[in-house]
Amino acid sequence: MSTIAIPKLKLVEILDKIKESYLLVAPVRNQGILDFAVVKEAAEIELSNDIAYKSPKEYLFPQVEKILRFTSEGGLTPSEEVPQTVLLGIKPCDLEAIKIMSAVFTTGKYIDTGFANRLEKTILVGLGCTEEKSACFCDERTVDKALSKDCDVFLTDRGNYYAAEIFSQKGQKLLDGFCLEIINDGERVKEIQQGLLEINAEENDLFNKIDWERLTEKCLGCGICTYICPTCHCFEFKDVVEKKGAVTRYKCWDSCMYPRFTLHASGHNPRESKQDRYRQRVLHKYLYVKQNFGYTACTGCGRCIRSCPVGMNIHSVVKEINNILNVKGEN
Ligand code: SF4
Ligand code: SF4
Repeated sequence: MSTIAIPKLKLVEILDKIKESYLLVAPVRNQGILDFAVVKEAAEIELSNDIAYKSPKEYLFPQVEKILRFTSEGGLTPSEEVPQTVLLGIKPCDLEAIKIMSAVFTTGKYIDTGFANRLEKTILVGLGCTEEKSACFCDERTVDKALSKDCDVFLTDRGNYYAAEIFSQKGQKLLDGFCLEIINDGERVKEIQQGLLEINAEENDLFNKIDWERLTEKCLGCGICTYICPTCHCFEFKDVVEKKGAVTRYKCWDSCMYPRFTLHASGHNPRESKQDRYRQRVLHKYLYVKQNFGYTACTGCGRCIRSCPVGMNIHSVVKEINNILNVKGEN
């Protein structure tokens, strides 16, 4: 691992050069909203303490992805080529989310080749936060806002330059050839916070002792919280029949907050009510992903809280659950 200094005055020039070889995706402000976008000119990139409205998950797990195309003659066309990409300005909470999604999609019995392929061809460049934004609770979710090593390069704002910590060969290759000064920044240690927000309770108690109906009274079932969440990863397949007997299969984001999400062909729906669906959303994040992959699938990014039209708050809900069950959420 080495650290180099990237002078802010040279950053645009360097990024424009990188853009000649890679698809560059970074936070860009459009009509006042900061969001990840494919960069046309490096000068339009905004690297700041602000968090992008959406996480960059769609660049690894697209909202709509063409999987394959087949015809009545039986021909199969594999999915599209993925470009070499640099994903720049990813906050530590969103790097944590990519780590969780990687565990879900690339470990265990089934590998999602689309996600794995995109991740392999993507260079992740992180960016530290200087302070928390409203509704952020990353400090209670093991995320150090100032540093993450779950990336290829991590940038820290040092006034007139960025300290770029390089954690992989991919990161080294990206910055090779720019004649940048190596600085001795010393090994920074990730500060793990105490007092973590978790759910350490039995599933039976969570089903039977919590008044989910009251907790979800306000919820509209709009699904925004799932679409905006950097760790939500449910999807469905859609076959679109074209003319001349050809079919294209798409993989599309889905939401556990929608009534038809678990609707069976028989007409039975195991999660018929709103409270069943919201309970699933909370327990999937705080119980099931942890049981299956070892991570709690909530980074404390606060996006679902900031975006919910009726003010539902997963942070308060988890705290209330722990209070009701009288269990400590802390590790
Ligand atoms: S964004 Fe809010 S109202 Fe919409 S489904 Fe999620 S919790 Fe319910
Ligand atoms: S559940 Fe909410 S706070 Fe947690 S990662 Fe998803 S959007 Fe962020």
